[in-house]
Amino acid sequence: MIRYSLLCDNAHEFDSWFANSGAFDDQSERGLVACPFCDSAHVTKAIMSPRVARAHIEAGSEAGSLSQQEAPVADAPKPAEEKRPVALFDEKHAALRHMIRELHGKIMETTVDVGSRFPEEARRIHDGATPEQPIRGQATAEEAKALLDEGIGILPIPTLPDERN
Ligand SMILES: [Zn+2]
Repeated sequence: MIRYSLLCDNAHEFDSWFANSGAFDDQSERGLVACPFCDSAHVTKAIMSPRVARAHIEAGSEAGSLSQQEAPVADAPKPAEEKRPVALFDEKHAALRHMIRELHGKIMETTVDVGSRFPEEARRIHDGATPEQPIRGQATAEEAKALLDEGIGILPIPTLPDERN
């Protein structure tokens, strides 16, 4: 048995086994050797192609082993470098969000919502007209400034970025 690499007139490459070197010529002349891809009977021996193919594979595997050797060195730090700032940002961001959320939650837990009566209530507490208690509510920027000017301690409630809209 002899194996030939064959090439049809549509440039399909395929391998075929023949009983001997003369068998291909004989079968080919009788139109018995057909391309398995396009059924063309115009098939010639592509003797050079296996060597070319092997050279490609060798070159490829050489390049492959080279890039494999380089891969852990060149590629390993890369994703780490790419990931690190992202991870840091995410961690920082998540930590900040967590802090704000906790603080926000604490304020909500420990304060009494007086709504728009906030400036009035704050003044009353400050004047001692009402027992001291932590309150929260809404105040305009002007009202808040006036309260601060009067020496009444107020703080803006932190909001999460996505809760502003
Ligand atoms: Zn073909």
